[in-house]
Amino acid sequence: MKFSAAVFLVLILSTVIVAFAGEPDSARAYKDVAGKIIDEALANGQAYSRLRELCLQIGPRLSGSPAAAAAVEWSRQEMVKAGLDNVHLQPVMVPHWVRGEVEEASVVNSRQVGTVPLTVCALGGSVATPALGVVGKVIEVKTFEEVRRLGAGAKGAILFYNRPFDKTERNTFNAYVGAVDQRGRGAIEAARVGAVAVLVRSMTSRLDDIPHTGVMHYEDGVPQIPAAAISTVGANFLSELLQAEAGVRVNLRLSSHTLRDAPSANVIGEITGTELPDEVVLLGGHLDSWDKGQGAHDDGAGCVQALEALSLLKTLGLKPKRTIRAVMFINEENGTRGGKAYAAEIAANGPRHIAAIESDRGGFMPTGISVDADPGGPAFKSVAKWSFLLESIQAHRFEKGYSGVDIAALGDHGTLVMGLVVESQRYFDYHHSDNDTIDKVNERELELGAATLAVMSYVLANEGVGVEGR
Ligand SMILES: [Zn+2]
Repeated sequence: MKFSAAVFLVLILSTVIVAFAGEPDSARAYKDVAGKIIDEALANGQAYSRLRELCLQIGPRLSGSPAAAAAVEWSRQEMVKAGLDNVHLQPVMVPHWVRGEVEEASVVNSRQVGTVPLTVCALGGSVATPALGVVGKVIEVKTFEEVRRLGAGAKGAILFYNRPFDKTERNTFNAYVGAVDQRGRGAIEAARVGAVAVLVRSMTSRLDDIPHTGVMHYEDGVPQIPAAAISTVGANFLSELLQAEAGVRVNLRLSSHTLRDAPSANVIGEITGTELPDEVVLLGGHLDSWDKGQGAHDDGAGCVQALEALSLLKTLGLKPKRTIRAVMFINEENGTRGGKAYAAEIAANGPRHIAAIESDRGGFMPTGISVDADPGGPAFKSVAKWSFLLESIQAHRFEKGYSGVDIAALGDHGTLVMGLVVESQRYFDYHHSDNDTIDKVNERELELGAATLAVMSYVLANEGVGVEGR
């Protein structure tokens, strides 16, 4: 009795000692690994050179376009070259919208300024105008409430949505969310009161003459009217003219239209886990971009970072216990067909995805991880406890927040979903416009984002996440 009690006590004590001694050891070991990953990314990272190739040799790659098909094949080849396992395509049918040759707008026969061109571009999904364009009296609005109040007064008019970004928002994504309903639903609300077209102030706080496109929607039973983005310089000019002169008219000409759905694919590659190969940690970005600029920040950056994270682990000979998978999703911008198809396949046939991190906020300096889970719960804590691994690059701010459009549906099926958070002040200077080019991407910032993904995916693939209780 006495003896077995003593044995029992020794067992408990040794367990306690091992537990205490083990934790600092593994923490130290992971810190060592994180340091090596970050060193390798900064010294020899290839995310930037890959992004340069994607931007300059393939360029913008809207879903359904020949360039998007080229980007799918390029990505597949890059994954093979990087030595990833199980490289394959998941076929997905995608919408195929084309901008066409003509997109122009001008103020017509103003008493003050005569006929003056305005810089516009079609919003993604917009129908064309008649060949000679549509001419209408311009009415400036800032809210849908104002649109409803116009009622029959809007009949035959071109509604001009001119609610700017709230510049006091510290995080520019909040300013975007506060304005983007004008782009998404502006045409629907305008058509309901009889307007013939809409112009929407570009989704940026930067003042320049470059319009920013992005997806817009129609609704069943509501007439489909053409919709264009106007540059911020153009929007300010038009607004001032409207204050000075009654009855200002604009002629808008667009030739955009939607073709039949096109075949495309998600591109997938992985490092197979050594102990739990059927459990997956996913890293992702989206391969499609708008047909403006080069899709450098949005979201070529996220794609090359996901691939680079796996390359870094391979180069350093780090073998994760669970599988780490890179997915380049197709059609995030105008349909999310890639993300939806991926989540449906995983829900039906597995393998189980314990965690997923998307990088789709630009290739800027990483500041941390947003975790789509209750900050007091075990899932959040199981991730946040590793934030110290990223302290040396100041990417250790882990907060509750949104993950990413492509992986959100995985979250609905129980995967712990997260987003790579980056410094946000410049993103909307470039987003969805001719400004989004490779020269706007800083090599070191991009590589550090890739290193952040590599560190987090490696530690989560080895240590797991507390998914229960999410
Ligand atoms: Zn994006």
